[in-house]
Amino acid sequence: MQFCEACGSMMHADGEAMVCSGCGRREPRDEERAAAFVSTEARTEGDVIETEEGAAFEGKPTTETTCERCGHGRAWYTIKQTGAADEPPTRFFKCRDCGHRWREYS
Ligand SMILES: [Zn+2]
Ligand SMILES: [Zn+2]
Repeated sequence: MQFCEACGSMMHADGEAMVCSGCGRREPRDEERAAAFVSTEARTEGDVIETEEGAAFEGKPTTETTCERCGHGRAWYTIKQTGAADEPPTRFFKCRDCGHRWREYS
């Protein structure tokens, strides 16, 4: 059972959409909205750094920074927009000596 967000009337299925019997508003059916919700919520910060960023450092530019684990002075870095567009991007580092990875919020 689904109710219109605009007027609260009961909605009925019409093909791929739900249609409000009161105001005519159309919305995606419940199961499609649930699927979209899961796919965005499943992307945790841990997944981002381990899967996407973890393997992609080699070949990236390096910068002078100090590894907090081994004290080495150079690390690969990459910049990624992890949050909303109006938030500052996050810089990811990987130590060239020991492979330690960390991130820095600018
Ligand atoms: Zn309505
Ligand atoms: Zn290191």
